[in-house]
Amino acid sequence: MKTIDLLDRPLTDAFARRIDYLRISVTDKCNLRCIYCMPAEGLAWIEREQILSFEEIERLVRVFASVGVRKLRISGGEPLVRRDLPRLVGMLAAVDGIEEIALSTNGILLEEQLPALMEAGLTRVNISLDTLREDRFEALARRPGLASVLAAIDASVRAGARPVKMNCVAMRGRNDDEIEAFARYAREHEVAVRFIELMPVHENLGLAADAFIGADEILERIAAIESLVPVAGPPGNGPARYFGFADGAGTIGVISPLSHDYCERCNRVRLTADGRLRLCLFGENHLNLKRALREGESDERLRERLNAAMLVKPERHHLRIGEAASQMRAFSEIGG
Ligand code: SAM
Ligand code: SF4
Repeated sequence: MKTIDLLDRPLTDAFARRIDYLRISVTDKCNLRCIYCMPAEGLAWIEREQILSFEEIERLVRVFASVGVRKLRISGGEPLVRRDLPRLVGMLAAVDGIEEIALSTNGILLEEQLPALMEAGLTRVNISLDTLREDRFEALARRPGLASVLAAIDASVRAGARPVKMNCVAMRGRNDDEIEAFARYAREHEVAVRFIELMPVHENLGLAADAFIGADEILERIAAIESLVPVAGPPGNGPARYFGFADGAGTIGVISPLSHDYCERCNRVRLTADGRLRLCLFGENHLNLKRALREGESDERLRERLNAAMLVKPERHHLRIGEAASQMRAFSEIGG
């Protein structure tokens, strides 16, 4: 991967935040049905021809890189259900300016695909895991698979995809009795276990109302059994706060979009699988980049659109604990 030093117009929003991180969803489909994310029957999947091709994603990433985006995260849905993902990683790793390509995955298909992904230029992995108990895995993900995920975590550590980060959505009454077990796992393995606050979205309104646990409570519960020391945390520029153990291999972190939001440090935007640029994790407005691409717009025109979109990137998200009404607002399109 090569570095570009000079940029005329790095992407900067109206609040002087430099945007150098693009999260790319390569599919809306998934091989799990986590209770906080998708209904058991799945979603109304995006039609195949509406999904961006690898070539379209690469073209957009070139444009983003030319205005200062340096880090990519490939996500979904579950990105590993998209066929031939290592080919895309290789294409993106070859884009001038891209310095880092991370993957967010549920880990089910990772062990098998990891060598090809690393060979293609993947630099980091985040693996989601909400329980260390098989019976509970099926209850929370509505599919079996714990052994595959644990094997993928071990394989990632062995393959040097460090720092291997684990994401665990903490839910009262569902998995909060495992907070301490996850902390022990982080002590014993070279991983960063990050607890994420449950975010209220339209798929999980009932659950989010009573299962929310704040990051401070999670840290208090771990501190009651382990002495935690704040640490800088692994590289990766994320919003987590990290803590180490006096005698442990890994670290634990908390990601608290609700109780302590990190919007003032936001450096990211998201590209959906069907080519819409969302300016905020749960923002209302988006830019239809797929249409611009398919209508044959030039790189220069696409750059102008990105710069214009930066002016309407919201200052902060509108998620609130125990409230999801703002999520129900229709997405509106900007820039035509
Ligand atoms: N399928 C991949 C995975 O599970 O890692 C990538 C996509 S998933 C949407 C990305 C992350 O968002 C996962 O760690 C998941 O646990 C988390 N997530 C999804 N819905 C959430 C919610 N309502 N609240 C908090 N975290 C959520
Ligand atoms: Fe959602 Fe990821 Fe769970 Fe799939 S694995 S249902 S995308 S959180």
